[in-house]
Amino acid sequence: MPAPDVIVVGGGLAGLSAAVGLARRDIRVLVLEARGRLGGRASAFRDPTTGELVDNGQHVLLGCYHATFRYLRTIGADTAVRMQASLEVPTIDREGRLTTLCCPALPSPLHLLAGVMRWAALSATDRLRVLRVAPAIWYARRAMARGSKDPLTQGETVEAWLSRHGQGGRLGEMLWEPLALAALNQPIGHAAAEPFVRVLGAVFGTDPRDAAIALPTRPLDEALAEPARRFVESRGGEVRTNALARIHLADGRVTEVVIRGETLPARVVIAAVPWHDLGGVFEGDTDLIGDVLACARTTSPSPIVTVNLWFDRAVLDVPFVGLPGRVMQWVFDKRWAFGRAASHLSLVSSGAEAVLRRSNDDLIALALDEVREALPVARQARLDHALVVREPRATFSIAPGQPARPSTATRVGGLLLAGDWVDTGLPATIESAVLSGEWAADAALRGVRS
Ligand SMILES: Cc1cc2nc3c(=O)[nH]c(=O)nc-3n(C[C@H](O)[C@H](O)[C@H](O)COP(=O)(O)OP(=O)(O)OC[C@H]3O[C@@H](n4cnc5c(N)ncnc54)[C@H](O)[C@@H]3O)c2cc1C
Repeated sequence: MPAPDVIVVGGGLAGLSAAVGLARRDIRVLVLEARGRLGGRASAFRDPTTGELVDNGQHVLLGCYHATFRYLRTIGADTAVRMQASLEVPTIDREGRLTTLCCPALPSPLHLLAGVMRWAALSATDRLRVLRVAPAIWYARRAMARGSKDPLTQGETVEAWLSRHGQGGRLGEMLWEPLALAALNQPIGHAAAEPFVRVLGAVFGTDPRDAAIALPTRPLDEALAEPARRFVESRGGEVRTNALARIHLADGRVTEVVIRGETLPARVVIAAVPWHDLGGVFEGDTDLIGDVLACARTTSPSPIVTVNLWFDRAVLDVPFVGLPGRVMQWVFDKRWAFGRAASHLSLVSSGAEAVLRRSNDDLIALALDEVREALPVARQARLDHALVVREPRATFSIAPGQPARPSTATRVGGLLLAGDWVDTGLPATIESAVLSGEWAADAALRGVRS
C-alpha cells in the first residue's frame, strides 16, 4: 500500500469504525492492532478444550445503537446480529417464577408503559409507580435533543435517582436494577444517574424498536470486526494485527508511528486505544496531551465476569433470560446464536467487583447453583465443560466524581482520539465506541483535506 493518509492505532470497534468511515470516502487508511485478533473488548478466543470460538463476554446491542447499525450496514454485516421486533424480556425471579415483559408495537414510550402495565412480575401498585418516571425520561430526551446535560441528575447515583422517583423495592429489583447494571456495568449505588437517564432517553426514544434487543449471530470478532477489515482492504486500506504501535509526538504534533522497529511517517493519527493503554502509546513530547493522560490514569475500571457452561442437552427454550436478584444477572443460550445442538450457556455478572477475585471453581459452582435454581431442566442435565472469563477492565467507571472524558480533538496537531471513553455522553458501550470512531473519521477527513 502507498503511504497511508491516516493511521489508526487500535483495532477495536472504535478504531474499525473510524477506519471504515475514512475508507468509504476513499481515504487510504492503515489500522494497527496489538493483538492477534480484531475487535478489542468485543472479541472471541479459541477454547482449547472444545476448539470452539468463545466470546470474551456476551454482548447485547439495542435498537437505539444507530451508529452501530450504520457501521454494520456499511460493512455489509447487517445479518451479524438478530434483533427482536420489539422489546421482550423474559425473567425468572428469585422465587423461580418466569414472567415476560412484552412491549407492544405502540409509539414510544407508550409501549414501555403498556408492557409494564401487563407484566405479571409486578403488583398493580408497582406497575402504576412506573408512570412517575415518565416525565423524567421525557425531560432527559429534551435535554439530549438540545445537546445539553440534565442539570437535575448531576452528581446523583442511579440508586438516588430511582429513589427520588419512587422506583425502589420490587420494581427496582425486577426492572431498573437489571437494566442499569446491563447498560452501565456498575451497581446502581455507584453508577451516575446522568448517563443512565440518557440511556433511558435513547432506549425509550421516538421509535419503539429502539428498545429492542439484538444479539450477535456469530463469534464477536467474526460478526462485528472481520467484515470491517474486508471493507477497509477492499478500499485500498490495510489492517495489521500483532502490531503494537507507539505514536511519536514532537514540536506539538504527530510525526511518526513506530511498530517493531519499523517507522511510518504520519500526518494524521487516530489513537483508538482504551483509557488504560493510552499512557503507554505515546513517546516524545507528551506535554500537550498531559491533561488527557492524567484523566486516563485516574479513571477506574469496572469488571464483568462470564461463566460459560456446556450441558449435554438444551436447558433453555429462549435465547436469554434475566435473573434479577442473582449474582449472574443474565443467562444466554449460545445455541440460538450459533445454531449448535447441545446447550452452551453464558452467564453474565456485570459490575462484578464482588466476585472478580473468587476462584474459577467457586464461580463455576455459583453459576451452576444459580442456573439450576432458576431452570429446573438444568438439574437433570450433565455439565460437560465450564470456562470462566474475567474482564477486570471491561468498562470504565461512570461513578460521580470520575475524571472528565476527552474529546475527539486534542491539542497535538494531527492527533485525534477514538474509543468508548471519548465523551459521547454514553456509557462504555459498542455504540459509544462506534460513534467516537465516526467523529474521529470526520475530524481526520478535515485534517487530510486541510
Ligand atoms: C465482557 C464484556 C461485555 C460487554 N458487554 C457489552 C454489551 O453487552 N453491550 C455493549 O454495547 N458493550 C458491551 N461491552 C463494552 C464494549 O465491548 C466496549 O465498549 C467496546 O468494545 C470498546 O471498543 P473500543 O474500540 O473503544 O476499545 P477496545 O475494544 O478496548 O479496543 C482498543 C484496541 O486497541 C488495541 N491497542 C491498545 N494499545 C495498542 C497499541 N499500542 N497498538 C495497537 N493496538 C493497541 C487493543 O488491543 C484493542 O484491540 C462489553 C465489554 C466487555 C469486556
